[in-house]
Amino acid sequence: MAFATSIPPADEENFQPLRALNDLLYCERRCALHRVEEVWVENVFTLEGTAAHGRAHAARAVAEAEGDGRVVRGMWLRCERLGLVGKADVVEFRREPGSGGEVPFPIEYKRGRRRRWNNDDVQLCAQAFCLEEMLGASVLAGAIFHVKSKRRREVRFDEPLRRRTEEAARRLHELFASGLAPPAVLKPQCRGCSLKELCLPELLSTRGRAARYARRLYVIEGDE
Ligand code: SF4
Repeated sequence: MAFATSIPPADEENFQPLRALNDLLYCERRCALHRVEEVWVENVFTLEGTAAHGRAHAARAVAEAEGDGRVVRGMWLRCERLGLVGKADVVEFRREPGSGGEVPFPIEYKRGRRRRWNNDDVQLCAQAFCLEEMLGASVLAGAIFHVKSKRRREVRFDEPLRRRTEEAARRLHELFASGLAPPAVLKPQCRGCSLKELCLPELLSTRGRAARYARRLYVIEGDE
């Protein structure tokens, strides 16, 4: 089975990065600040995340024999239908008993424990859509590998997850086309967000004259 290892054109207008889906479901404002306004601030969580992916991509994007199949690291993926492009940390190609064919099984590396927001599962499901379109294969499941605990959590790509992923892709394109960052809303995700100092969710989420004045100063087209 052939697979692409070359870098696809990243600057095509109609394509968004796969990992932006994760950002979007964490917080739409964070996603817009990253992708529309190109604001990026590292914190301990983003640095650990980058290191986790770095380890997964340590080997070049080539296939390695492993057990009863092959493993490809750092494989480029692309889905025309959803306008998504990006890299899979690892794709296992497992032998299908009886048929001699292979079944792709994507694995995404994450630094910490399972997140409450389920954004990792959507990012992984989007990788499955890419593999299905590129290879004409059915991709029924994949896994999140949690680096700290060294545990794999299997994810089934059922209909609800597929619909959620398609909806997230649609919203991602809509957000990017709008060119606007939604207003800040204070929520549990803000606690671990590297943009908190710039975003000022406490200030911008409150009512009253001071907050209105701050909103005028700091942001936000479309916030009024
Ligand atoms: S601080 Fe909160 S509202 Fe602001 S970008 Fe981060 S998660 Fe979103």
